[in-house]
Amino acid sequence: MPSNKSVSDAPVVQFTNCRILKNHKLQREDLWVREGKILNPEKLFFDEKIPADLQLNCKGSIIAPGFIDVQINGGFGVDFSLATDDVRPGISLVSQKILSHGVTSFCPTLVTSPPSVYHKVLPQISVRNGGFHGAGILGVHLEGPFISKEKKGAHPEQCLRTFEEGAFQDLLATYGCLDCVRIVTLAPEMKRSSEVIQELTSRGICVSLGHSVANLSQAEEAVQHGATFITHLFNAMLPFHHRDPGIVGLLTSDQIPICQQVFYGMISDGIHTNPAALRIAHRAHPKGLVLVTDAIAGMGLAPGKHTLGQQVVEMDGLNSYIAGTKTLSGSVATMDTCVRHFLEATDCTVETALEAASLHPAQLLGIEHQKGTLDYDTDADFLLLDDRLHIQATYIAGDQVWRRNTFTL
Ligand SMILES: [Zn+2]
Repeated sequence: MPSNKSVSDAPVVQFTNCRILKNHKLQREDLWVREGKILNPEKLFFDEKIPADLQLNCKGSIIAPGFIDVQINGGFGVDFSLATDDVRPGISLVSQKILSHGVTSFCPTLVTSPPSVYHKVLPQISVRNGGFHGAGILGVHLEGPFISKEKKGAHPEQCLRTFEEGAFQDLLATYGCLDCVRIVTLAPEMKRSSEVIQELTSRGICVSLGHSVANLSQAEEAVQHGATFITHLFNAMLPFHHRDPGIVGLLTSDQIPICQQVFYGMISDGIHTNPAALRIAHRAHPKGLVLVTDAIAGMGLAPGKHTLGQQVVEMDGLNSYIAGTKTLSGSVATMDTCVRHFLEATDCTVETALEAASLHPAQLLGIEHQKGTLDYDTDADFLLLDDRLHIQATYIAGDQVWRRNTFTL
């Protein structure tokens, strides 16, 4: 029954003069927020009969869901794969700094490391909400060590492992603790991978295929056992071949179970993937594209030498290589740069570029009812952007946690 009594005494904030990304379109609509959630204004008008406590004029900005980075190895001098006694200050620093790049939640990523590193680092990381302290942590992404020697990329060969002896038990012994793990990247051609994929999936952990020489049927089998993601498509896998397109073939495979969708990560930094390849992937399977930074410690720093787990990396501009080689080793691009590059390289719509960094990673992790959209009752994690997709301000749970110096509301 309608009532004029407020269901909550918390203040209602109305963001006006904006275009909000909703139902895959930018719409001229206000955004209403209360108690950290996006509010349905109709309920407010008709049921509660109360106006907003505060109106903020967004001066024509775009409002989009906060970005979600599911593959980030560190940044600003911090390398998540370095086993220090206390990894929390480093994680906090990165969580804080990525707010200015529009990232409101992320999956700290560890590259292939010795078991001692996992045993030391993993118990120190926990899932936590974002806020003034920084972006939220959705869980860890473990990339390796169960990957292919031939496609190891920047991962140290001496640390690679298999699970042919004890399957899932081998994986458990290596990682030690899976409590905070959200994604595991593995090579599906490894013996007993089906068992491992099933076990991880049943625990709600997303399995991603990467650093692999799998052919298409091995990749399809992995998807049929529960894998839903491809780690940095095109990089560290067999190149597309028309008679066996390998993992890349999953984008147009007809062997994907009906209730399942395959997502794929793209490092859209202008270096890891040629724009034409980015366009091929996007046109073949637009709804699966997830922008990731794959950023390393050098992101946000001047050129020079940095680490990536056990390896030393040389960074020069947007290029970063394992020292003394031409092996690419993660990127130093920020998420907002990747979104803008993707928009430009594919000539897609602004909505499409924004959703590749918000809705799609949320769907991949199965959290689209909380994050990655501006639907009613979801978390009020959002960004104010100008028309060229430069971030003006970042909000988490309705609080402004970062804003550009020159931008005021
Ligand atoms: Zn990788």
